[in-house]
Amino acid sequence: MKAHDGMYIDGAWRPAAGRDTIAVVNPADEQVIAEVPAGGAEDIDAAVRAARAALPAWVATAPAERAARIAALRDVLVARKGEIAATVTAELGAPLPFSQAVHAGVPILVAGSYAGLAASYAFEEKVGNSTVYAEPVGVVGAITPWNYPLHQIVAKVAPALAAGCTIVLKPAEDTPLTAQLFAEAVHEAGVPAGVFNLVTGLGPVAGQALAEHDGVDLVSFTGSTAVGRKIGATAGAAVKRVALELGGKSANVILPSADLAKAVGVGVANVMGNSGQTCSAWTRMLVHTSQYDEAVALAAEAAAKYGDRIGPLVNAKQHARVRGYIERGVAEGARLVAGGPEAPREQGYFVSPTVFADVTPEMTVAQEEIFGPVVSLIRYEDEDDALRIANGTVYGLAGAVWAGDDAEAVAFARRMDTGQVDINGGRFNPLAPFGGYKQSGVGRELGSHGLAEYLQTKSLQF
Ligand code: NAP
Ligand code: MG
Repeated sequence: MKAHDGMYIDGAWRPAAGRDTIAVVNPADEQVIAEVPAGGAEDIDAAVRAARAALPAWVATAPAERAARIAALRDVLVARKGEIAATVTAELGAPLPFSQAVHAGVPILVAGSYAGLAASYAFEEKVGNSTVYAEPVGVVGAITPWNYPLHQIVAKVAPALAAGCTIVLKPAEDTPLTAQLFAEAVHEAGVPAGVFNLVTGLGPVAGQALAEHDGVDLVSFTGSTAVGRKIGATAGAAVKRVALELGGKSANVILPSADLAKAVGVGVANVMGNSGQTCSAWTRMLVHTSQYDEAVALAAEAAAKYGDRIGPLVNAKQHARVRGYIERGVAEGARLVAGGPEAPREQGYFVSPTVFADVTPEMTVAQEEIFGPVVSLIRYEDEDDALRIANGTVYGLAGAVWAGDDAEAVAFARRMDTGQVDINGGRFNPLAPFGGYKQSGVGRELGSHGLAEYLQTKSLQF
């Protein structure tokens, strides 16, 4: 695969300060496909300086001009969609149709939505005898994970550009090629030099240097709760803004009046997509005791049908971790009805679509984020019991409710401690705010709420 041997800083590809590299591995066959430089504090410092220097001119551009640049970026993503999908498939392992539809398709939608918002957002508002201006927060340090490598970059960079911020991105070490492709797209779109900068590198080195840099005004992080907590503490100590999109353990609540077969089928597919590496996946399926056995049979069948269409996990560490969780489920008394801890292929980091029955709410597989193709079926006695179980983790990122009619599902969803709920299947909406209650995070991404994360207000009184 094509790779740049440098960092994208101040509008050009520049050599890294050091000589360390990251080997990029295809998780489907464990072959090294490219090498990229592993940046350090010096590279981060150069990138932050470039972003700081570019800030005054970018802040001063009219929103319509920023909108035009984001629209151009969207057009480049459209033109290079095939290349993007192939790159995500090579370094993440997602099956090509999923890469085309989701990994390449969703960022195009999101970039398009911010081209629209940049042009239409009310950056100025009258409040009584005051005029309130929404101004950019300044230089953004963006740290992203590998599971939706381009989406998570675009969900930060597009609103930051729309707001008038400049950016330094440190992408995940497992998916740097997608990030390099994105930097090329930004360049092609005519975004001025220094407005967007890319430093590839390791989390505890380049990521930490970015989070700690005093030239950064806002740190926007997506990833694990463990790292998010650390970044939040660092930002708090520096009185710096922070946005955290963290883990989840979302509930798929199937009320007795629901279409059971549909709810179970969609629910299993929701977890297996992207090999279970989705922070908002509905990994706990809650079923009324009267329908439990039928739901278990339907889920096992759906998982078995999924079979070979599933991609590998991203790397050897996640492979070992997910299989360890499956072994732990068995050890704690959950019943395997599909899949299991054995690797289904000799090569590649594959895990079979796995379904656990007889899961109780306190089991490890019902509490911790597995980040693999594993769904746990939990039985409930009545609605209050279902609500207690649904709300009974430290997380609150997403969820689903199924019922005979939307009103019944909405009544339940309103009692859930979570940031986003799909009603009877729902549909993805790139303008709806996405983010967590409880330990799933701080702040929101997407739409106007996502844009507001990159703005601060100034009020003038008359
Ligand atoms: P992670 O370590 O939190 O990685 C997320 C990003 O933070 C990556 O760019 C990472 O760099 C960087 N990072 C790591 N340590 C850092 C530090 N000390 N300071 C600043 N940045 C740092 O997540 P992971 O190791 O890839 O995955 C572990 C678990 O996190 C998964 O099993 C899953 O449960 C959860 N996860 C959640 C999401 C989500 O969307 N909510 C996404 C991914 C993972 P490196 O790539 O070099 O580590
Ligand atoms: Mg990591």
